[in-house]
Amino acid sequence: MIKSLKRKHTPLDTEILHKYQVDKKDIITGIKCEGCNQFLMKKHMQHWYCTGCKHKESQLLIPNLKDYYFLFGEQITNSQLREFLQIESIYTSSRILAKLNLKVTGTGKKTVHHLSLNLFKSEIGGN
Ligand SMILES: [Zn+2]
Repeated sequence: MIKSLKRKHTPLDTEILHKYQVDKKDIITGIKCEGCNQFLMKKHMQHWYCTGCKHKESQLLIPNLKDYYFLFGEQITNSQLREFLQIESIYTSSRILAKLNLKVTGTGKKTVHHLSLNLFKSEIGGN
């Protein structure tokens, strides 16, 4: 698994990792399964399912982005989101970003989405 991560192009900002002497390969990416706590959730049709325990989710799992927020800061692009959540489809990631309704700056490929702490507060509080 580490090998495959190393092979991949990784555009994430590594400055903060260097600062705290965290190796990027130690950061777990992907979407965490509520059933088995492994990061094996994959998108399938309208649902997310776990390739480990077959747990199924219908809604998006926002808490993962909290890790991103604290590691890399509030700015995230579509390609960074895809890398961090291990999503292959640009359409899926675009839909996630649209659903999060984040503040956006820039256009096209340079579009930056701004995460905010409020996002995670509402998630923690439940609905
Ligand atoms: Zn699972």
